[in-house]
Amino acid sequence: MKSSEKSRTLNQEINLIIRGLKLFSTFTPHFISYSIGYSFFESLSWFLNIFLAAELVDEVTGERSLQRLIILLCLLAFSQVVLMVLCKFCYNKARVGDLISKQWTEVYLNNKSFSMDYKNMEDPKIRLERQSITKNADVGGLNILVNTFIELFYDIFQIIGGLILLSDFLVKRSPKILTGISAFADSSLCAVCFFILMVAAAVGSYFISEKYGKKIYTVQRRIPVVERMMRYYTDDYLDDSKSCKDVHIFNQKNLILKSFENAFVNWRELNKQTAEIGLKKGATNRIITGSLVTIIYLFVAFKAYVGAFGLGGFIKYVEPLERLMYCVTHFAESTASLKSNNLYLEKVFEYIDIPTDMHYGTIPTEKRMDNKYDIEFHNVSFRYPGTDKYAIKNLNLKFKVGDRIAVVGMNGSGKTTMIKLLCRLYDPTEGYITLNGIDIQKYDYEDYLKLFSVVFQDFKLFSFSVGENVAASIDYDEEKVWSSLEKAGMLERVKAMPKGLKTPVYKDFEEDGVEISGGEAQKLAIARALYKDAAFVILDEPTASLDPIAEHEIYSRFNDMVKDKTAVYISHRLSSCRFCDRILVFNNGQLIQDGSHENLLENSDGKYSELWNAQAQYYAETKV
Ligand code: ADP
Repeated sequence: MKSSEKSRTLNQEINLIIRGLKLFSTFTPHFISYSIGYSFFESLSWFLNIFLAAELVDEVTGERSLQRLIILLCLLAFSQVVLMVLCKFCYNKARVGDLISKQWTEVYLNNKSFSMDYKNMEDPKIRLERQSITKNADVGGLNILVNTFIELFYDIFQIIGGLILLSDFLVKRSPKILTGISAFADSSLCAVCFFILMVAAAVGSYFISEKYGKKIYTVQRRIPVVERMMRYYTDDYLDDSKSCKDVHIFNQKNLILKSFENAFVNWRELNKQTAEIGLKKGATNRIITGSLVTIIYLFVAFKAYVGAFGLGGFIKYVEPLERLMYCVTHFAESTASLKSNNLYLEKVFEYIDIPTDMHYGTIPTEKRMDNKYDIEFHNVSFRYPGTDKYAIKNLNLKFKVGDRIAVVGMNGSGKTTMIKLLCRLYDPTEGYITLNGIDIQKYDYEDYLKLFSVVFQDFKLFSFSVGENVAASIDYDEEKVWSSLEKAGMLERVKAMPKGLKTPVYKDFEEDGVEISGGEAQKLAIARALYKDAAFVILDEPTASLDPIAEHEIYSRFNDMVKDKTAVYISHRLSSCRFCDRILVFNNGQLIQDGSHENLLENSDGKYSELWNAQAQYYAETKV
């Protein structure tokens, strides 16, 4: 992601704001118009209130015409009732929009997160950015943009109303003959100077808000990083029952508490800085507005005192002047806030604009009953993004339909990476892969993925029901789920669960959820792979934590289940995959041997023999 701390032209600032407003409008189409409507009716109501109240006071203290008084009172009542109803209507409509808009933003961003290239989904920097956008949503981003934008309208309506009420303020003059400072205070020049002072204060507020807004942004960007750490030491670490054993045995209590405390101190410091900056910004702006309010009161009181206007005039001028001053300075502050908010907004759009580099293709894959899908790697090499080392180097390989293939090799030799390339989680850096002779990049991506079922070493089940976990879907074929569970050896266990297929896995959301053992989780993951009924099934060491014999048993049993499909078994334990017709040996990202168990053993200098003998010796010694 590029840095957004560079300066933008006015045009770029405006374009960013327009883009944000347009995007927001797609979430809650009428929120902005109802909010502006609310600001308008609220301001109009305020305007009429002041205007009619001043007229009433003047009437009561002046000519006291009953007919005029009744008309004024009726107007006041009518305008208040009608405007209040309109205000309430707009407020309620806008409020609903406000409540849901944050969630809509999340849904929109989640859609982006789930549809981006796998390499980006996996990238820790991009994941942190996603979390930061959500964490910062209360201080900057789409919602703040819209709220600030609406406040601008409120200010504008109030400024217009204020200027109308004050239209004759410049010309109201004392009937007395004044001299010196009093004459100046009563003159139009003084009133003009006062308005210039107001504009100068607004400009000052703009620069103050802009300066402090930038500072707050710099601090706020660091808070999600620290909060992530704190969450790790509480939710992620302590919530995970697997970690309890290590915490107890190695007495990690102090290590965790100290690490949390360090992160907490950091977090507290950042929040303190935010509060201090906010306080400085608020105090400076309040000093400016407070001083102006004092001047306003002195000014208007003096004019009333010298007889430029009566009590009605005082009511008519003092509050509008005060409001005008607040709204002009607030308008300036909000404009500066829009600019600071663009710093956050740019991060949102940088995330939304993360490009899709993968070629998603359009050709549908052939639906074959005979599962005759041939895959071939053509001189494929691959480096992970941001690394120089090849994880796969010059791989040439052909899978034939119905093959039982074992992929073996030391940890880090490139076995999983080969599977990731096969399933198009990544595309090769060099070379290409074909399915039935056509480059796999030309196939429709989702269609292509339907061909594969993988149980990864670090597979994940979710806090959904058993049925939803197995089917990976809300809707599922119950019979097929039961049959997959039976094949995976989980039938009796699930039957005994209180709600059968509807039983929630884990207790995150439901009290009657079930906690399952590691072995049971593996079986559910295998059932999920079977349910998908894909042409290629792959076991990527989901059994690594089991002993070699148990692993061998699961692999052999799985082999019987997958029937005519092409199956790939990955393990760093050679004994687990002995039953396969074909064994691929990986070393340092390269395929160095390819053959049956017996053939490979014949080559006594080969890597396979070396590994086999080393592991066989170990099994013999430990009498497994
Ligand atoms: P194996 O499955 O044989 O244990 P992998 O295919 O997982 O090996 O890893 C091959 C090499 O690629 C290793 O050097 C590993 O450190 C590196 N690697 C794996 N995943 C990533 C990743 N996401 N980013 C960078 N390097 C990776």
